[in-house]
Amino acid sequence: MKDIKRLVRANIAALTPYSTARDEYKGSLGILLDANENPYDAPYSDKGSQAGGAYVINRYPSTSLKEAVRGKVAALKGVAPQRLFLGNGSDEAIDLCYRVFCEPGRDNAVMIAPSYGMYSVCADINNVGCRMVLLEPETFALPVERLLAQVDANTKLMFICSPNNPTGNAFDVADIELLADAFDGILVVDEAYVDFSSKPGVLPLIEKYDNVIVLQTLSKAWGLAGLRIGLAMSNPYIISLFRQVKYPYNIGTDTLALALDRLKADITPQVEEIISERDRLAELLPAYKCVRKVYPSDANFLLVKVDDPRGLYNALIEGGLIVRDRSSVALCEGCLRITIGTPSENEKLLKAIETYES
Ligand SMILES: *Cc1c(COP(=O)(O)O)cnc(C)c1O
Repeated sequence: MKDIKRLVRANIAALTPYSTARDEYKGSLGILLDANENPYDAPYSDKGSQAGGAYVINRYPSTSLKEAVRGKVAALKGVAPQRLFLGNGSDEAIDLCYRVFCEPGRDNAVMIAPSYGMYSVCADINNVGCRMVLLEPETFALPVERLLAQVDANTKLMFICSPNNPTGNAFDVADIELLADAFDGILVVDEAYVDFSSKPGVLPLIEKYDNVIVLQTLSKAWGLAGLRIGLAMSNPYIISLFRQVKYPYNIGTDTLALALDRLKADITPQVEEIISERDRLAELLPAYKCVRKVYPSDANFLLVKVDDPRGLYNALIEGGLIVRDRSSVALCEGCLRITIGTPSENEKLLKAIETYES
């Protein structure tokens, strides 16, 4: 087992975390005069109706509601609740990785490129060095040796995104495990798109390696991007540090109640439809004259290389369709990133490309 404690910033290891009124009194009965709340619940007529049950919002979020959501998500993921942190989106968890492990002005993080922009933006915000390592051109394969070559004594974090945004490919578990084994810092694997992948994810690695953090989210396959709930899964020690450093009530009552309700859903049919639509578009798009290449995808989007990305991008906007122009990103020259929509939205996309070409 790796020594994780030595990687934690000294001020965080020594932290006395803020203790909320709800931390100090966990009971549900009694007259609450401990948190300076307003004793009257707001008189909204549709109180709680969206969540299918009443909840009060004059009180700070209850610990038991948060624990109910944590228990439900943990069960869905097959991990122990002590291994799960719920954040205000995965973005909160990404920021916490920096705040817990990286000394500003001294430490650095190694990450793949191109990838999700928040890893480097959070590094910049926290004044942490950022070492980008390009994927292999065209195959977008994981450059294991080149990643490890960037590691020095101050490298605390390494970010891998799999399936990767914007390239769409998932990496082999074996390659990611090589990194977990060889790297003595914290390996963060962002699996925001794992539910769309044909390859297995790396969640089981958290049982085997104490230095692995797996990020997932309710924003993509679960269809809850507006709720802002992200997951970090790791060993109980790292999760306890995240819980000490986060804002005291990082997820609101309405969000928790709605999440608890929506997590009852079976997302499989919808995920399957998105996957089959992705595969259908991947098969049809290469027949268009302007399309040079459709990269293989394990996510809910396609990276598509075209002759004139800006021209097609503008033509699609004319047709009422907005895609992401990634053509200025290294290794994505000429590429648009297209999110898979409903079958009828995808038909409109194909029609709009036809119109553009005619
Ligand atoms: C969309 C996305 C997320 C999701 O972030 P949230 O803050 O949970 O909405 C995380 N990582 C990647 C790579 C993404 O593309």
